[in-house]
Amino acid sequence: MAVFICSKCGSMVESTSTPSGVGCPAGGSHLWYRICSSGGVAPKSGTKAYQCRKCGKIVYCTTTPAGVGCPSGGSHLWIRL
Ligand SMILES: [Zn+2]
Ligand SMILES: [Zn+2]
Repeated sequence: MAVFICSKCGSMVESTSTPSGVGCPAGGSHLWYRICSSGGVAPKSGTKAYQCRKCGKIVYCTTTPAGVGCPSGGSHLWIRL
């Protein structure tokens, strides 16, 4: 499953396609970025844990997640846990 993060509110969701933008708690619509094409928001077999040093989010992904869409601004700085 792919993992998306909203760069405005920091929500992370697993989805096969871009999630609905409705109802971002930060106001307006979510602004989703795909940070992992195969992984999840909870540990799964075959995935490794990565944490962003800037926003503190943890994602479980088979490869290093993409840098796009850090809620703290700019690119994520993923550190393997
Ligand atoms: Zn949002
Ligand atoms: Zn980040």
